[in-house]
Amino acid sequence: MSAENEYKKSYKAGEVIIKQGDPGQSAFIIENGRVEILTQNQDGEAYKLGTRGAGTMIGEMALIDDAPRTATVRAVEDCDLLEITKTDFSARLSNVDPILHMAMQVVLTRYRDMLERSKIVGDPPVINTAETLELSYAEDLGAVEAIKMANDFESALGTEEVFLNYQPMIELATGKVKGFEALMRWINGEKGFISPAVFIPIIEDNGLIVKASSWALEEALMGLKRIEDRAGYDKELFMSVNFSSRDFAADGFVESVYNTISKSDVDAEQVHLEITERLLMGQPENAKETLSECEKAGMGISIDDFGTGYSSLSYLHYFPINILKIDRSFVMEMMTKDSSLELVKSMIGLGKNLNMKIIAEGVENIEEAQKLRELGCDMAQGYYFAKPMKEQDVIDFIKENRKIEF
Ligand code: C2E
Ligand code: CA
Ligand code: CA
Repeated sequence: MSAENEYKKSYKAGEVIIKQGDPGQSAFIIENGRVEILTQNQDGEAYKLGTRGAGTMIGEMALIDDAPRTATVRAVEDCDLLEITKTDFSARLSNVDPILHMAMQVVLTRYRDMLERSKIVGDPPVINTAETLELSYAEDLGAVEAIKMANDFESALGTEEVFLNYQPMIELATGKVKGFEALMRWINGEKGFISPAVFIPIIEDNGLIVKASSWALEEALMGLKRIEDRAGYDKELFMSVNFSSRDFAADGFVESVYNTISKSDVDAEQVHLEITERLLMGQPENAKETLSECEKAGMGISIDDFGTGYSSLSYLHYFPINILKIDRSFVMEMMTKDSSLELVKSMIGLGKNLNMKIIAEGVENIEEAQKLRELGCDMAQGYYFAKPMKEQDVIDFIKENRKIEF
């Protein structure tokens, strides 16, 4: 099971994700947002079967049979989904433990057989009834499940189940890799890949995030050191690590960051702290002091998901911020929607006026990359350049690709 096959899709509120009657080619895991499941009876009346939220799966029958979709799924909020295609599913299945593989094959064969027979005798297929769908779709990740997940995460942290992937950030003017964002990955023995969009909020809630962030910082900086050594760089690349508000509230945050930096033999200038607007609004006093110390030591302070949070921009003056990361929802729409393009232009202009560096997130095609370069955006990150990768793949990537042409 690998997190490298990850493929994300985003849908806006109201958009149809799966249409009843269409051929089904993939299932989706919901990372963010909510969807509703609707079905039509023979008279064409629509019924709502339920809703589903983060951490649940939709359209899973596509992985099992070749029948058309039995229900329509529509986004009720803006959603991020992780797509699992049939091919990906088969590849994952052939990689699991051989006994598990065999058991899955038997279960799937019996299930398909059962479905086939129910069609011949004209019984309503078991999975098609509103009742069963309601049962299987009804539950979101409840409180008990969240506690179990937090406990499982705690045991997994420090084992190979939890690791970091690194996504390169490219300087648009030169096409060169300038640094990376460290993104946490958890491949649970039982459940397989669990998205950070699912487990991070849970460990933020119970405070475990502090331990996780400190692990991530240490791992990422040691990783950076190894990457530079092996790929032939000398203190030239940066590493951006995500933090949440709990981290800032913890005693000794700055000291622990300093300690990790000196232990891993990187320069403070190579370290970027990524935080969201929400965090700054929570504890402005506390955050200002902490960030100022880090900034004075030379670290980069990045505002993540810029543009999605607060409408007041006065905090940009108040805090020592030197990097803005334009959220991918704007980048995604900027080639098709004039208002998004205008917003991207304004964000770049604003950042430049305030002497900040601008990084665009979620660049997925060459047109977006070229447009951002033309607009004077400094750096970009996204599937077009590279997905988040394992350390060894990053080393190969920057060794071979010193300059990316586009
Ligand atoms: P984020 O900080 O906004 O991270 C960027 C997310 O966008 C990553 O998702 C990345 O894989 C994804 N992404 C990058 N390029 C593209 C693209 O071109 N298209 C699309 N559709 N997506 C792209 P990921 O790794 O699933 O992480 C989700 C969120 O979980 C992160 O959002 C961050 O908020 C949180 N997270 C991940 N790792 C950590 C961590 O170590 N600490 C903390 N506190 N949060 C983390
Ligand atoms: Ca981030
Ligand atoms: Ca982001």
